Amino acid sequence: MNSKLVVYNSLSGKKEVFKPLHPKRVGMYVCGPTVYNKVHLGNCRTFISFDLILRYLRFLGYKVRYVRNITDAGHLEYDADQGEDRISKRARLEQIEPMEVVQKYTLDFHKCLSKFNVLPPDIEPTASGHIIEQIELIKSIIEKGFAYERNGSVYFDVLKYNKSHQYGILSNRDIEELVHNTRELDGQDDKKNPQDFALWKKAEPRHIMRWPSPWSDGFPGWHLECTAMSSKYLGETFDIHGGGMDLKFPHHECEIAQSTAVNGKPPVNYWIHGNLLTLNGKKMAKSTGSFLLPDDIFDGTSSLLNKSYSPNVVRFFMLQAHYRSILDISESALIASEKGLARLLDGFQTLKNLKQGSDEMNFDYESWLEQCHQVMNDDFNSPLLIAQCFTAIKFIQKVDHSRKKIDGQLIQNLKTGLKSFLFDVMGLLPEEPESTQKENSKLSHQLIEILLDIRKDAREKGDYTTSDKIRNELSKTGVELKDTHLGTEYQMK
Ligand code: AMP
Ligand code: ZN
Repeated sequence: MNSKLVVYNSLSGKKEVFKPLHPKRVGMYVCGPTVYNKVHLGNCRTFISFDLILRYLRFLGYKVRYVRNITDAGHLEYDADQGEDRISKRARLEQIEPMEVVQKYTLDFHKCLSKFNVLPPDIEPTASGHIIEQIELIKSIIEKGFAYERNGSVYFDVLKYNKSHQYGILSNRDIEELVHNTRELDGQDDKKNPQDFALWKKAEPRHIMRWPSPWSDGFPGWHLECTAMSSKYLGETFDIHGGGMDLKFPHHECEIAQSTAVNGKPPVNYWIHGNLLTLNGKKMAKSTGSFLLPDDIFDGTSSLLNKSYSPNVVRFFMLQAHYRSILDISESALIASEKGLARLLDGFQTLKNLKQGSDEMNFDYESWLEQCHQVMNDDFNSPLLIAQCFTAIKFIQKVDHSRKKIDGQLIQNLKTGLKSFLFDVMGLLPEEPESTQKENSKLSHQLIEILLDIRKDAREKGDYTTSDKIRNELSKTGVELKDTHLGTEYQMK
C-alpha cells in the first residue's frame, strides 16, 4: 500500500507521520477508569476509539504492547485537597470494603467492554498494586528539586519546573494566566502555590485507603500512577499515550511534568485524545446526571430511549464519527445506525449467494483496498472506512439483484477485504447473537401487543388523545399501525 500512517498529535496540534521508537513495535498507554461505579457510555466511547486504533496498528503488522490502568487508589473527587475519596464513599454507601468496590466495578467494566467487543489490554496495572513504584518516583522528583514536603504531603513545584521547562505545553496554557486565574481554595494552605499538585497526600484519620510512606500514612496523587506505570511497562519514552479530551489538562499535563522532571525528556511521542460523547449537547458525565449506562441501552430499560440497541449497533454508531469529533447520541441516530449496520451485515452475507462465472460485472478491488488503507492511514478515519464498506456492499447487492455472474476470485477478495475491515479493524460482530435477537424481538412484539390493547380501550372510551399518542410514539420507533375492520395491524420497519 502506498500511503503512510499519519496520526494527529495533540502535542504539536498537527498530523504527523507515525514513526514508532522501534520499527515493528508500538507501546501504547491509555488512562483507564476510576472504579467506583459503573462506566457510562461516554467512558466507553473513549475505550472503543482506542480499540479501533489498537486493532488498526495490529492489522498493519505492529506488535503492540497495550497498557491500560485501573485507578483504584482512592483519590478525592476532582483530585481535590480535602473531602472523602470516591471509592471509600461508595464503600460506605454500599456497606462493603473499599477493595470490594474496586473488584465489583472492575469486573463490571470488563464485562461491559467485552460486550462491545473491545480487546483487553496486554497489561492492566492497578494504582494500588504500584504504590512502591509511585513512592520511588516521588523520591526522584524531590531529588531533582521539583517537589517539596509540607506536613506529610508532597507537592510538585509547578513554578520552579516552569523556570527550566514548559508547563502547559500540551494544553497550550500559559503559566502566567494560570497563576492569574487560580483562586486560593480552602485546604490548600500546605501548597506554596495553588498551581502545585499533590504527589502524595497525608491521609486524614477517616481516609480508609492509605499506605505507609517516608512522609506519612497517605495515598498517591492521581497524576502520579500513570507516570509510574507507563514508564515501568513501556519505558521512559514511549510511542502513544491516550485518553479522553478532558484528561489533557491537568492530568496529562502533570504526567509530562513529572516524567520530564525525573528523566529530563518528554515521556511520549504521540499524544492522542478522543473527543467526548454528548447527550443533548452536554458532555456525558455522572456528576451532572446526564448519562446513559450501556446495560440500560442493551436491555431497553433507559427512560431516555424507546427501545433497546445491541452493543454491535452502539459500537457502529460510535465508529460512524471520527474519534476526534464530538458525537451526540440520540434515538434517531441509533435507529439510523441500526439500519445501516443491518445493511452492511446483510450485504456481507449476500456474498455467499453470488454466482461465480465470467465477470459480467466488474469492481476495481485493488483501488478499493487502497482507498480503505488510505482513509484509515489518515488518522484512523472510521466514518470514511464505513463509506468504503458501503461502496463494496452496494456493488454486491447490485450483482445479487441483477443475477449476473462475477469472477470467483473477486468474490474471495471482497470476502477477505470486508472481513478484515468490518470485523478485524472495526471490531464489529458478523451477526447479532441469535438469543439476544430472538429475545428482543419476542419482547418487542409482546410490548406492542400490550400497547395496542391499551389503545383499543382508549378508542372505545373515545380517548383519542391517548390513542393518537400511542400511534405517534410507536411510529417514531419505526412501528406503523394500520386500523382495519378486523382490528389494528402493525408493521415494523
Ligand atoms: P474516568 O473514570 O472519569 O477517569 O474516565 C475514564 C475515561 O473516560 C477517560 O479517558 C475520560 O476522558 C473518558 N470520558 C469521560 N467522560 C467522557 C465522555 N463524555 N465522552 C468520552 N470520553 C469520556
Ligand atoms: Zn492517566
